[in-house]
Amino acid sequence: MDKIEIIRKTIKGKWYDLFFEKNTNKSCSLCDYFNDSRDNDCVDCPIFLYTTRHNCHDTPYWGYRKHLKEIHSEENEYTSASGIFKSIDIPSMIYLNTDRNRNCCHIFIREELLFLFKILRIERKRCQKQN
Ligand SMILES: [Zn+2]
Repeated sequence: MDKIEIIRKTIKGKWYDLFFEKNTNKSCSLCDYFNDSRDNDCVDCPIFLYTTRHNCHDTPYWGYRKHLKEIHSEENEYTSASGIFKSIDIPSMIYLNTDRNRNCCHIFIREELLFLFKILRIERKRCQKQN
């Protein structure tokens, strides 16, 4: 799958779910492809290429996480409070928080979406240059 498709997949999957449905059982497609759970390398992830930082630091994602922690006392984005779960490559199950009827979270989710659209635009330009 090409990078543009992967970016689109995380937007349409996880983040649209959070924005429009207020919950999701999807993980980030970019992380699925580029984040090696053993050493968190993020190599070749379009977000890493843009920020040059691992694990989405310096992106709105961590603003969202900080909000979850400080306002909702949620250490993790994925929480056992949720009934929805998905298994991922690492041994333990992770749970997504489904209590998304929280308008306060929306502004952070929106910021992340806008950021991902920007990454999508940058990646499209990169592809055009190569062709
Ligand atoms: Zn909130």
